[in-house]
Amino acid sequence: SEESRAEVLARLPLRDDLRGRTPYGAPQLEVPVRLNTNENSHDVPGEVVQAILDAVRQQARHLNRYPDREFTGLREDLANYLGHDLEAEQVWAANGSNEVLQQLLQAFAGAGRTVLGFTPSYSMHPIISTGTGATWVDGRRGLDGQAADDPHQFDLHIDETVEQIRVHRPHVTFLCSPNNPTGTALDLALVEAAYAATDGILIVDEAYHEFARSGTPSALSLLPGRERLIVSRTMSKAFALAGVRLGYMAAHPAVTDAIRLVRLPYHLSSLTQAAAQAALWHSDVLLDTVETIKSERDRIVASVTELGLKPAPSDANFVLIGGFDDEKAVWRSLLSRGVLIRDVGLAGFLRVTAGTPAENTKFLDALADSLLDAP
Ligand code: PMP
Repeated sequence: SEESRAEVLARLPLRDDLRGRTPYGAPQLEVPVRLNTNENSHDVPGEVVQAILDAVRQQARHLNRYPDREFTGLREDLANYLGHDLEAEQVWAANGSNEVLQQLLQAFAGAGRTVLGFTPSYSMHPIISTGTGATWVDGRRGLDGQAADDPHQFDLHIDETVEQIRVHRPHVTFLCSPNNPTGTALDLALVEAAYAATDGILIVDEAYHEFARSGTPSALSLLPGRERLIVSRTMSKAFALAGVRLGYMAAHPAVTDAIRLVRLPYHLSSLTQAAAQAALWHSDVLLDTVETIKSERDRIVASVTELGLKPAPSDANFVLIGGFDDEKAVWRSLLSRGVLIRDVGLAGFLRVTAGTPAENTKFLDALADSLLDAP
């Protein structure tokens, strides 16, 4: 039973600092409309399915051998995709950007060290940090005296950000642009100021960069001359390949040497490398859905505003919606109508991923009905 499992867990010689912790647990439920984990709802196009199958078939014969530990071809393709004159030796990849972040924190955080992030942000940043034994510091967003329904309450401001970095002197600082769950992208001036304020590592998590409004610059452009700056990306969102588990980062080549000290050898399987490369060779086709998702995101913002709710402006493939009196009741009511969205633990808010046009219409209809049930 659950109770005896809990009793056994209490007896197990678990690390003291892990006792009482809660694991990542976004619900994985079989419902018709799943808009809770910011995946790309569009299926992988047939042409790309074929390319992946061909690449994987070629590798299958050689699965008796360990994969290329340095995944050289994949790093070249990723550098090519990123542009900004990046070289393969500046790029590193792992099983999802979560694993990239874990490797970075194993190398640059760990016991006795401090990691700073600005809450609310991606919930895995503190979980991965404390998993390495580091101390997590919850930095804050917004300005003193902002109202609970102020759409700018989650903005980061240069002076306040720099001040918190100076006070906490973190070994690693996380920025997230566009930020999950608020959807806002950062000005590069803030990234530059944060970098200048720390002796530690600055990670800019750009998992959602491809969805940013056009002209939003990437922190990749700041890499030259900044050896402690790291920009992480993923193929789980815009590339519609969450199932492949392929995340990556770009930084000074010495950062990859630091990661090699902690990474498990052969961490990227031959199948993963082959699938990711085949996908990158067809990145134009794969990224075709990005424009649709951006306009659907804008439709969600406009439609929920008409329903009297308060969406945050978004540069991502999701929208943080404020203005709920009882967000938990609305979440449950949506679920009973077959629509799963995300309760991110912020009173008055829910987050929804922009799915296919049909899914978004189902969500918007269900939301209108749910507001009648559970205003
Ligand atoms: N960073 C952010 C901001 C995210 O929202 C996510 C996924 N929800 C990730 C990283 C991790 O994605 P993955 O491990 O699939 O690359």
